Amino acid sequence: MDYRENEQEAAFRKRVHDWLAENAPRNWQEEASDEKAAGRITRAWHRKLYEAGFIGLSWPEEYGGRNLGPTFEAILNDELGKADTPRISFHNYLGRAIFAFGTEEQKRRFLPTMLSGEVQWCQGFSEPNAGSDLASLRTFAELRGDTYVVNGQKMWTSGALNADWCLLLVRTDRDVPKHKGITCLLTSIRAPGIDVRPIRISDGAPETCEVFLDEVKIPADQRVGDPGAGWRIAMTVLSFERGPADIGMIATYDTALRKIEDLAKARGVAGQPEVRKALARAYVHGEALRLNVVEQLSQRSAGRMPGPEGSVARLLLTEAQQYINHLELEVMGADAFNGRATGTFNSYIRSRTISIFGGTSEIQKNILANQVLGMPR
Ligand SMILES: Cc1cc2nc3c(=O)[nH]c(=O)nc-3n(C[C@H](O)[C@H](O)[C@H](O)COP(=O)(O)OP(=O)(O)OC[C@H]3O[C@@H](n4cnc5c(N)ncnc54)[C@H](O)[C@@H]3O)c2cc1C
Repeated sequence: MDYRENEQEAAFRKRVHDWLAENAPRNWQEEASDEKAAGRITRAWHRKLYEAGFIGLSWPEEYGGRNLGPTFEAILNDELGKADTPRISFHNYLGRAIFAFGTEEQKRRFLPTMLSGEVQWCQGFSEPNAGSDLASLRTFAELRGDTYVVNGQKMWTSGALNADWCLLLVRTDRDVPKHKGITCLLTSIRAPGIDVRPIRISDGAPETCEVFLDEVKIPADQRVGDPGAGWRIAMTVLSFERGPADIGMIATYDTALRKIEDLAKARGVAGQPEVRKALARAYVHGEALRLNVVEQLSQRSAGRMPGPEGSVARLLLTEAQQYINHLELEVMGADAFNGRATGTFNSYIRSRTISIFGGTSEIQKNILANQVLGMPR
């Protein structure tokens, strides 16, 4: 395994770096005053990256991609993380469902606009009583002629407020074992009968939503895969749900850690033994994460699809991120709570959700125990 970038990759990094120096949006955090404004900024930034040829680097050319290896995506994400740009649509991994299981017509219809950012997607999997136990989902779709009629409720559908389409898991058969009666449908989020209600999570941001479905009509040609294939599709999608390499986590983490070090110096606590120890530990977390990211990238470059061992990356990412958010809180002391450093407090609160979405940390450990270590259930 050679972790060094080859000539082509190094040239690509330089091209991205130079382009970002000219084009990266500035002060976008202040302009993203509410969820709608944040949505507009994300869309515009996605479009700009797409027009510059930086989106869909590892996707096939016939669907709007560039046919490059996964390291190019990682380099792009790394540079985006360093430049602290807005995070572009984080749902492109949903395209894997259409790419792997969709018809040729569905691929041509949905993938290019997903990559270009014209059409934004959200993931309608979880329900009030189906999160870790996703296979218990109850939203029901009845096939009437060539139309599915859907009734039920989705929960925690992130980005639904600004999305155009939703990849939906529904039950189509109640008489078979629960994993086998699930089907995957694609629907416009503005189809009649769909009601999106924002949920304000602990830091006040309405980034996730409840989605109510009342007699929603979905043409049968918007079904992905066979009836009953929904579970397999969901597992494929979840295995691609963005890992640390995809979100430029290392660069973002390094920047955040340096900021905490500067804060510690400015507040005169950088020399305290417990702060020094905590900072050292934070660097060790970052290094473990970085090594795991390059190992994963090397696997993907060798053509291996992500598998259950992806849960290791997910756990490392969660622990590292939550650790430094907690450290920042300690460095800021009372100011994190008295309104002088609300950013620190909000980031800390937000970091607590990382161990829940995309499968909780307990579920990641179950996956590792059962599917990687082969331990009994
Ligand atoms: C901010 C945020 C964004 C989200 N975005 C989306 C989205 O876009 N689309 C979507 O479909 N979903 C989304 N989710 C939902 C997320 O996937 C679920 O919240 C998650 O899977 C946990 O399900 P639950 O909330 O029903 O908790 P539960 O499954 O009820 O779990 C409660 C607790 O019990 C533990 N637990 C449950 N089962 C086991 C077990 N077998 N072994 C050990 N411990 C167990 C869990 O780890 C957890 O601590 C989001 C959630 C959050 C918080």
